[in-house]
Amino acid sequence: MSELPDAVRVREVGPRDGFQNEAEVIPTHEKVRLIDQLGRTGLKRIEVTSFVRRDVIPQLGDAAEVLRQIDVPDDVALSVLVPNERGLDHALVQRERFHELTVFLSASETHNRHNVNRSIAQSLEELERVLDRAGAEGLRREAVISTAFGCPYEGEVPAARVTEIAQVLVAAGADEIAFGDTTGMANPRMVEERFAIWRAALRGVELTAHFHNTRGLGLANVLASLHAGVDSFEASFGELGGCPVPAGATGNIATEELVSMLEEMGIATGVDLPALIVATGELSDVLDRPLGSHVLRAGPVDWGPPPDRPA
Ligand code: ZN
Repeated sequence: MSELPDAVRVREVGPRDGFQNEAEVIPTHEKVRLIDQLGRTGLKRIEVTSFVRRDVIPQLGDAAEVLRQIDVPDDVALSVLVPNERGLDHALVQRERFHELTVFLSASETHNRHNVNRSIAQSLEELERVLDRAGAEGLRREAVISTAFGCPYEGEVPAARVTEIAQVLVAAGADEIAFGDTTGMANPRMVEERFAIWRAALRGVELTAHFHNTRGLGLANVLASLHAGVDSFEASFGELGGCPVPAGATGNIATEELVSMLEEMGIATGVDLPALIVATGELSDVLDRPLGSHVLRAGPVDWGPPPDRPA
């Protein structure tokens, strides 16, 4: 068995990837309260919102207000996602309120067209300008490559094509590349093989795994990526999120399930699991529906009192 890391980094993406995919628009004050609570669970990275057009994604139409109102400890790195230069302009109005900028595109032409109505080449051209300007602002830069494992329209997305796109983004200044299994098509074998390729091709770049639990393989894919040397993950509290394709798909891997598994394996996340479960319970109350997360229902594993101490 390959060696596992002692510690990993976890970025909470629920306030963006999750809230964006809810049918209802969550009131701003509830978003702010939940983000503030997440910021006190030991999570050190939170993607708080996305600066997109309100008519395109009304769920995140309050990005500026959310960013203005949240109050998290100083050691929590906040990121915002932008689709283009206009989004960057809007985000930069509050430059002092966040630390990292995230951009995204798909590795599949068809998915990219559906998502942002552009070819991959057009997206890369714009994102190069966004990354350049973000660098000049002193922002840490993450680029997410969606459909990095498979595409619901095109099927196979060659690993080499994903590598090529990642290399362009790194040359443009990206400090971190996240590989998204946007519609849950990856399997553990594929994950291990692909991350081995990407690690070899992208030395010195932080590589992050972003899995969706669409077909129940999220945590299996996490384990496979750990074996391939990945030590950075994105997840969403309550298993929120997901992609409208395929219909009815479930969301990202649940942060509380990721944290529970890793901590049980002796891999430090820095996250206080009971506190995270409380935050996820409040999310469930706000949404007024049960959430898919197993750990939310079962609670943390309880091994009882240590044997060397009286109960
Ligand atoms: Zn996601």
